[in-house]
Formats: sequence, structure tokens, C-alpha cells
Amino acid sequence: MGGNYFSNDTIVAVATSLSGDGGVGVIRLSGPDSLKCAQKITSGFEEPSPRFLHRIDVCKPETKQVIDDGLAVYFPNQQSFTGEEVVELQVHGGRVLLQNILQLLLKTGFCRLALAGEFSFRAVRNGKMSLDAAQSLNQIISAKSPFEIESARRSINKNRIGEFDQIAKELQNLLAQIELSIDFLDQDVEIISQADFSSRIKVVLNSLDKMKAQMTATSRIAKGISVSIVGAPNAGKSTFFNAILAEERSIVSSEAGTTRDVVTEEVILGPYYVRFADTAGLRISKNQIESEGISRAKELAKDSDIAILVMDATLTFDKILEQLHENLKQLNISVLVLNKSDLLKENDLKKLEKQIQAEVKNLPFTVVAAAQQKNITHFLSLLKSTIDQKFHLGLNSFLPTEFQFQMVFQCMEALNQTETLIAKTGTANPELISVSLHSALKAISDLVGETTPDTVLTKIFSEFCIGK
Ligand code: GDP
Repeated sequence: MGGNYFSNDTIVAVATSLSGDGGVGVIRLSGPDSLKCAQKITSGFEEPSPRFLHRIDVCKPETKQVIDDGLAVYFPNQQSFTGEEVVELQVHGGRVLLQNILQLLLKTGFCRLALAGEFSFRAVRNGKMSLDAAQSLNQIISAKSPFEIESARRSINKNRIGEFDQIAKELQNLLAQIELSIDFLDQDVEIISQADFSSRIKVVLNSLDKMKAQMTATSRIAKGISVSIVGAPNAGKSTFFNAILAEERSIVSSEAGTTRDVVTEEVILGPYYVRFADTAGLRISKNQIESEGISRAKELAKDSDIAILVMDATLTFDKILEQLHENLKQLNISVLVLNKSDLLKENDLKKLEKQIQAEVKNLPFTVVAAAQQKNITHFLSLLKSTIDQKFHLGLNSFLPTEFQFQMVFQCMEALNQTETLIAKTGTANPELISVSLHSALKAISDLVGETTPDTVLTKIFSEFCIGK
């Protein structure tokens, strides 16, 4: 059976990850023949009570040979994730075993393999979930950080739809008024004043603009915050980089960059996914001058969200000042770290700290001894609060999908056109205004999944994984 998103076929897929062997694996069936199909390859599931777990054996239909045992649950029509009849088989999670059971189900002829995202698609089609919620769920499943999970989770909660709904309602009101003006075009009746109309469009544009800014910031953070470690040669950047990684247990991945010889390590810091980059690969030879180091660091810092300047505490105060100001002038430094504190006497260090603090005023600043792993925890909490402040997001921030972004852009574009029209000819051209308002409204309706065309739906769900 081939299949497309708009068929009513019974579909099947492994719902748990197939990328490794697991203790338990779940195979999910959805559609009118789900139960019949599952019964063909199981025993102990002949008369299932809805939404109760049943102990089952999985057997080959022809020989009755048992190939696994596990649990099965039956969800009747309307009472499942997809809104259709659903059966879930919880079996042992080996990849080969799961593939074997999947093949047995397919061979019954009662089901076909689900397309990517087809379960979620059906949930949306059957009104069990909004398009928005389905997309957020997909983001949650593939999230790389707690931040991403939280912000995607917020999208499922209805607040957000509420915001877009308000915009849709306001556009509907404006549209109704402008369409009324079309009816009264011959008569000299002003249904809505130009000033009133214009200011209401501005209010909508303003809230869309705020949402867009928040969406941009949230997706930027979710993708990972890049932090570069810069400073003069020998300041201890690599030692510091290694100290951070030794401190931070949850290293996600480590990779020696190929493009610019930058080493990056990804870690989870509080809720954030942080990508540290060190210029270790950019080691400059003794005969190269220091400004070379700075110009390379500049390139790295320019591309990152946060640049940390590491300085050597054993240099003379004048030299430290010189380096500090040169870097602050050229790079957008967010945190200053004075390294090698172990090599200074306590009093000298205190004095130096005070002097530097006076120089940098509000710039977050800390002293560490990277080689001794000293004060690294403090540095990490300073970094976290710097990120909190720099990317401060309201509680309503949510993680948008690419499609949602596009719809907000489209809506804004249409409203800007409306504004231009009104600025040129007032409300004298209600037909034209109505056309552009209609397209603004359509974008928002598509976003909340009320009117999304089939082609768009198919594209959205085809980017999901199979089994979702
Ligand atoms: P980079 O060129 O900035 O990456 O500097 P490195 O990390 O290679 O360090 C330069 C030198 O300073 C090495 O000999 C390190 O062992 C030393 N160093 C780095 N951090 C510290 C520290 O906290 N205390 C001491 N005593 N030495 C350090």
C-alpha cells in the first residue's frame, strides 16, 4: 500500500526511537483496522478492554510461533492521540525485533507504514490537537536543551493561540467594517474613520512585531548560544576552556572544527545549550605579533553571541589595561576573566581586582585560576546570569517553527500594504483594502491551523519523523 496523508488507511510505525536498542519499544497502529491487525499477530488480546494494558504474546500468524511477549493497549475511535482507533504494542526494544514485528503487521495486509508525522497529522485532522501544538510537540521531541523544551511546551499551552486569536479577531472586525463600506460605497456614509482604521492596524502590527522579536530571540537561544573565549596568547584560554569542560559534566558533543581550526564543545548550562569555542587551533607562533591574535579572535568573537576575554593576572597593570582597552574597543566583550590568580599574592590580587573592577564598571568580571580549576563554578554562574540578562525573555516566549515565522512575516507584509494603501487614498478604496486584509487574516488562520491548505500541511508533517 502506498498512501498519502489524506487517506484513511490503517497506519503503523515504531513510535519509540529506532536509533538504538532499548529495553522497551512501542509499535503504534492507527486507523479503522488497527485492532484487527494487531489481533492477527498476537494472543491474549482477543477481547481487550479499552485503555487497559493486556499481557500479550506476539506470534507469527501462520505457525503461531511466539517471537516476543509484552503488553498491548487498545484505544477506541475518538479516545486516542490520533482520534482514531489506535493500538499500541509494548514489546522488547531491540531494533531487529521491532523491525520483525513491524513486518508481521505489514504482512497482514491490514495496514501500511506510516508516513513521516502521519500520526500527528491525523491528530490535527481529527481535531485532537491544533497544528501549532503538533509542531511544538515535534520540537519537544527533538529538543537539545531544557530551554527548548520549556519554550516549545509554552506553545502547547493555550496562551499563545490566544494571542494569535486576538489578532485574528481584530482583523475580522476590521474586515467586516471595510466590507460594509463597500456596500455603502455609493452613499456618503463613513463606516470607519481613516484615523481609527489606521491606528488599529498599527496596534496589530505592533503586537506582531513584538511577537516576531520574541520568536526570533527564542529560536536563536534554542539553537544554542555561542560563547567564544578570546584573549592574548598565553593568557590561559585553552587551560580555561578545559577547566570549564572538566567542571561541566554534561558535555553534549566535542568537535575539532575544520573550517577555522576552532575547537568547540557543547554543554548544557542551566536551561541553555551553550557552544564554547576556543581558539586553541589558532595557536600563533612566537614570531607572530600579538595583534595577529587579536584580529583572529575578533573574527571568532564577531560570530558568537557572547565573547569572554581571558587575561593573564601576572602581567603588569599597565599591560593588562592596554590589553583590556584594546579588546573592549575592538570586540563586543560580555564577560571578563582574570586568570592565573594563583600566581599572585592575596593582597596584590585584591588590589588588582579592585583596579580592574573600577575600569570595567558594569562588565561582569571574575578572577580564576584555570590551571587549578579554581572559581570556575563561579564563572559559570556569572555566564549563566549574563545569558539570562542578554537574552531576557518574557514568560510567554515560545519556540516558533519555520512555518509559523513565515506566517507572521506574511501577515505583517499584508498589513504594511494595507497601511500604505490607507496612507495614499484613505478608506476610499475598500475593495483593495479588503484584499490585503484578507491575506493578513489568512496567514494568521494558517498559523493556528484553521485553514491550512493541504499542500502546506503535507510539507509541515513530512518534516517530522516516522512514528510521530
Ligand atoms: P592560551 O595560549 O591563551 O591558550 O594559554 P594556555 O592555556 O596554553 O596557557 C598558557 C600557559 O599558562 C600554560 O603554560 C599554562 O599551563 C599556564 N596557565 C594557564 N592557566 C593557568 C593558571 O590558572 N595558573 C597558572 N599558574 N598557570 C596557568
